[in-house]
Amino acid sequence: MSSDTGRDAASSHTANSHTSGSHTDSGDMVSVDSHLAEILATIRPLPPVMLGLAEAEGGVLAEDVTAGTPLPSFDNSAMDGYAVRAQDIEGASEAAPVTLPVTAEIAAGDTGSYQVTPGSCVRIMTGALLPPGADAVVQVEWTDGGTSRAQFRRPVAPGDAIRRRGDDVAKGDVLVTAGTWVGSVQLALLAADGVGSALVRPRPRVAVISTGNELAEPGTPIIPGRIWDSNSFMLAAAARQAGAVADRHRISDDPAGVLAAIEDQLPRADLLVTSGGVSMGGEHDVVKAALAGLGTVTFRKVAMQPGMPQGFGVVGAQRTPIFTLPGNPVSAFVSFELFVRPALRALQGLHTERTSPARPLLTGAVRSPLGRRSFLRGVLDAEEGSVTPLTGQASHQLAALAHANALIVVPEQVVAMDAGDPAEVVRLP
Ligand code: AMP
Ligand code: MG
Repeated sequence: MSSDTGRDAASSHTANSHTSGSHTDSGDMVSVDSHLAEILATIRPLPPVMLGLAEAEGGVLAEDVTAGTPLPSFDNSAMDGYAVRAQDIEGASEAAPVTLPVTAEIAAGDTGSYQVTPGSCVRIMTGALLPPGADAVVQVEWTDGGTSRAQFRRPVAPGDAIRRRGDDVAKGDVLVTAGTWVGSVQLALLAADGVGSALVRPRPRVAVISTGNELAEPGTPIIPGRIWDSNSFMLAAAARQAGAVADRHRISDDPAGVLAAIEDQLPRADLLVTSGGVSMGGEHDVVKAALAGLGTVTFRKVAMQPGMPQGFGVVGAQRTPIFTLPGNPVSAFVSFELFVRPALRALQGLHTERTSPARPLLTGAVRSPLGRRSFLRGVLDAEEGSVTPLTGQASHQLAALAHANALIVVPEQVVAMDAGDPAEVVRLP
């Protein structure tokens, strides 16, 4: 029987005994911190691969990328207007405009050769190559916009409205440093400098396998006794939000089938996550039954609530990390946040710091079992510096989880906290 069905720990009771020095039931449990430490000691960062720019998105750069070309790579116009010699329109004003002949028009991308000769100007568009002879650009709004002759109503200084070669990036500058997660802007900078591929630790590939005879696909009919599989959607989505590529699979409670499914995914996955089948002592603990024989996965009780039954280890020739998470949805989610997310980051060589240093004040009382660290669903108001425990804290109660933006952490030796007490929180993404 699973003992992971957390009681409703958010309570309106006023509990006065905040800690208990009496007996603890954590004797055969390992702490959250040591379980995580073992996981992180096992995870090796993925080997870097050279990927085309589009595929490198979401990867973590494995080496500094330096600029082979200055940016901009040539002097060009910052405005639509006219390339001029500043001295030619020195005295221009509204009352006494200066008129110059327009000898050419240069659009962005035009690679022809043009020249601004003394006493003339060239119509120029934003991003177009600055023609020799010009030392400034006058924006079109300060002129009459003429095509054969243009009238200038203001003077400009040399250099005005010109983007100089190298004013953004000098040749040899580090564009993006090793260890940087490649997001939209990093991609843009690499692309802007003509970099077509990058050496990255790629997005980890995650296979999520839900187990349970009771599970059916959402969108199909069920009869009482059956439920729709929610964990595989949740865990695959959480993995993607954590930067992985993830897919979901659902199998029934058959140890041989579980093993076959895991073996099937091994060539395609950098990390495996199962849900269900690991509760304490049931004969239906198929994941445990399937993996116990391998001897490379450890099943244990972790001193936490929800999510006490945990399994972690490696499988296959590549020693692929596998997390066997409990089936209760809230337990599975909390386990993902605490253990799988840091592991995914470690696969990309990144470090994780999740608890926020600020300690918001509880707006209501909470309770927690002695000897276990509780992660209660709450709504954090960072501006107010408060966190409100939600109603519905049992480990099957997904609705409160869906309303939460933080987990309220109640330490192992604390059994009750009151409104007004400062609490540690883990922010949810
Ligand atoms: P187990 O860990 O397999 O004993 O499952 C514990 C509880 O979680 C049971 O109520 C299961 O029905 C439920 N559960 C297991 N897997 C899923 C899933 N994929 N989606 C939703 N609930 C699940
Ligand atoms: Mg099950």
